[in-house]
Amino acid sequence: MCVTCGTPDAGRSRRDFLRSATVAGAGLVAGGVAASAFARPAWAHGGPMRAPEPYANPKAALDALYKGNERFVKGEVMAPNRNMARLKEVAAGQKPFAAFLGCADSRVPIEIVFDQGFGDVFVTRIAGNVADPAIIGSLEFGTEVLGAQVLYVLGHTKCGAVSATMAGSDVPGQISTLYQHIRRAAKESGGDVNKAIARNVEIQAEILKEASPVIAKRIKAGTLLIAGGVYDLDTGKVIPVTV
Ligand SMILES: [Zn+2]
Repeated sequence: MCVTCGTPDAGRSRRDFLRSATVAGAGLVAGGVAASAFARPAWAHGGPMRAPEPYANPKAALDALYKGNERFVKGEVMAPNRNMARLKEVAAGQKPFAAFLGCADSRVPIEIVFDQGFGDVFVTRIAGNVADPAIIGSLEFGTEVLGAQVLYVLGHTKCGAVSATMAGSDVPGQISTLYQHIRRAAKESGGDVNKAIARNVEIQAEILKEASPVIAKRIKAGTLLIAGGVYDLDTGKVIPVTV
């Protein structure tokens, strides 16, 4: 049994690998390089944790996301569904259980932050996690067509798009076109960037509900739960925001 992901096969591979690495690396150990340096990282063998089927209800799907984030924060990632077997399984068709609107920031990789794998989450990312028409259309596809049970708006601390909007600074090219989407949150936050980041999550969730009858209909029917949160870059933890 794998100590990290609980997968019997993966555990056997890991033991075999460590055994061979220990033998092969014996000379290197003597030379000062520990055999453990050759251990495969957990994500290299993440086995299937769940079938590509919906959760019992949207609340259960949301709980699964928060449990994944908890594993990530504690350094106990399972890296579920992150191997070729899972990819082959979902290549024929995807049924992601959650759809995301997140920031394009390189420090906000949704699958890693929530410890998910191939076929689990349908992700849209754009600087400032703003709901522009192309994003709304994409999320309608993820929910109405693919059947995601959770629609999650994820902001994050130290968001450059929110900070730049608040500062109103001159920026090259079309970067400032993002400002129009974030300006309201910036105005309503009294100059506090963390408040603006949380308010931006609330506002973008409102826009998704109001601008998309398709999404609103699914929320009303109870087949879709809309939720939001702010991911703290210093701790890795996602703090829920009521939306
Ligand atoms: Zn950002």
